[in-house]
Amino acid sequence: MRIILLGAPGSGKGTQAKTMSEKLNIKRISLGDILREEVKKNTPLGEKVKEYMYKGLLVPDKIVSMVVEENIDSEDFVIDGYPRNTNQAKDLDNILSKKNLSLDKAIYLEVSQETAIKRLSGRRICKNCGANYHIENMPPKKEGICDICGGMLIQRKDDEPEVIKNRWIVFQKENVPLMNFYKEKDKLIIVDANQEAEEVFQEVLKKLNHG
Ligand code: AMP
Repeated sequence: MRIILLGAPGSGKGTQAKTMSEKLNIKRISLGDILREEVKKNTPLGEKVKEYMYKGLLVPDKIVSMVVEENIDSEDFVIDGYPRNTNQAKDLDNILSKKNLSLDKAIYLEVSQETAIKRLSGRRICKNCGANYHIENMPPKKEGICDICGGMLIQRKDDEPEVIKNRWIVFQKENVPLMNFYKEKDKLIIVDANQEAEEVFQEVLKKLNHG
């Protein structure tokens, strides 16, 4: 199965992509994670994208589409964080058809702004391994320390209130045309993402199994 996850910042794309990858045994391609890793390692790609990311702006389509193309092979996948506009959606169609593949479903995680802001402002990530936590919903065993690797937990630069605002504006501008793109292809599934992560996943499964 080849799936993409759409939704606002804070809709839970990352969490659902991880669960889907584990439970459905498909590869996870997370654009945000890949780009953050490049920034962390100070690679030439990281240098190019970091200013956009820090400001909550979209990285140019050409760059992200190239990263996606490099990461898609014959293995089934769930992509989190791409496409984010119709131009990228068209790029994805081209990438897949070049490889003789096609997309099965686009899952839209629908969330209220209130829920999303609560999630984003409480989110912490491990500086070392990138694992995700939430100060209320998913706290680490020891405050400020990663359960998995013992690394320090930090707030993502783009989870600061001013940047969250920007990311919402960017999202809202692109979202409706992007949803219509997949609705017209009869590939869109809409899921209530205000629920707890496990309930969201169960709804995803139910809707995937019923067309
Ligand atoms: P995320 O972790 O998905 O919230 O992504 C974090 C940041 O990475 C975004 O705010 C963008 O700056 C950049 N980014 C991730 N995916 C894309 C994409 N598909 N197109 C452009 N920029 C992206």
